[in-house]
Amino acid sequence: METAPKAVTEFSNPNIDVMYSADQISGRIKELGRQLTAEYAGKDLVLVGILKGSVIFLGDLMREIDLPLKIDFMAVSSYKDETVSTGDVEILKDLTNPIRDKHVLIVEDIIDTGLTLTRLVEILGSRGAASIKIATFLDKPEPRINKELKVDYTGFTIPNEFVVGYGLDAAGRYRNLPFIGVVKDPSVA
Ligand code: 5GP
Repeated sequence: METAPKAVTEFSNPNIDVMYSADQISGRIKELGRQLTAEYAGKDLVLVGILKGSVIFLGDLMREIDLPLKIDFMAVSSYKDETVSTGDVEILKDLTNPIRDKHVLIVEDIIDTGLTLTRLVEILGSRGAASIKIATFLDKPEPRINKELKVDYTGFTIPNEFVVGYGLDAAGRYRNLPFIGVVKDPSVA
């Protein structure tokens, strides 16, 4: 019996080099979850996910934090479909609930120049939270413009490469890849 040729799927895309596999990611997120569980015990914790890139990280991370936490989301304009950061942050969707007296953990996909997060910390910092910290899945320190930005929890520190997958996109695509990878040839659709 003839078998159909194996399809090249989004998950086995030959145009993507894997940087961190799904297994490596889940191992690291378990570690972060244990750390956060210990550090936020007894505190009124709200995870604030920054749409859309953080959704996978937030979904996995929250299930590794063994505490009665809540979640909320913000959407801000940063890269849109381009690959340069302007530093202007426009709030496209604000939080649903107040954060006064809450311990806020901002959950971000990746920090690059740090300009988006700098502005977000300023915006949320004026709302009376008990504390505001940052958890980022990836940290790319090389292009950082705001060197003072304090990143409290990091999944992986990576070189200055444009990565996709695990929530991160290139012009809207690749967010569903279960790993983090680098697009080899960006001209290939
Ligand atoms: P920053 O203000 O730190 O320069 O921008 C952070 C945002 O830029 C991230 O939330 C993400 O949307 C986007 N970004 C930065 N680096 C990358 C990257 O390597 N890959 C992807 N897909 N997005 C990135």
